[in-house]
Amino acid sequence: MPSPLGHALGGIALGWLIAPRLGRGAAVAGVTYAAIGIAPDLDLLVGSHSTYTHSVGAVGLVFLVALAASRRPRVAVAIAAAWASHLALDWLGSDTSPPIGIMALWPFTREHYQSSFYVFDAVSRRYWLPDQFVWGNLRAAAKEVLILGPLAAVSYWIMKRRN
Ligand SMILES: [Zn+2]
Repeated sequence: MPSPLGHALGGIALGWLIAPRLGRGAAVAGVTYAAIGIAPDLDLLVGSHSTYTHSVGAVGLVFLVALAASRRPRVAVAIAAAWASHLALDWLGSDTSPPIGIMALWPFTREHYQSSFYVFDAVSRRYWLPDQFVWGNLRAAAKEVLILGPLAAVSYWIMKRRN
């Protein structure tokens, strides 16, 4: 599953395409979308990784909260899309920690799903294994930047052309 860097780039790429400014400028919007792209992994703090926050139920809830807070459907869609980008990238990533995959379709089912075609490498949290933790994660992050960086750049370019 991608690193926070990859998730940030994914959130930015989608968010900027849908609602570039959030009423405060592109940079604030980009930082917001990056944070939202990373946010589903906060479930690591409560020991329930890749479950509820990695689901269509969470995307729907995020949309409703964003809509209530902003009262702007386009902004709510952009924020929900940035969150949903996390699910898509995790689904496309190699996962080496059980349960494998994400609980993508909760609340309809608690099954975990993972693509059989891996685009992104697994990110290791095993800090006591320097080869995996340092070099493996650097290689994974570089791959994410090579794949998602151009998408975020294209999104930025499209946003700038609109203005
Ligand atoms: Zn995740």
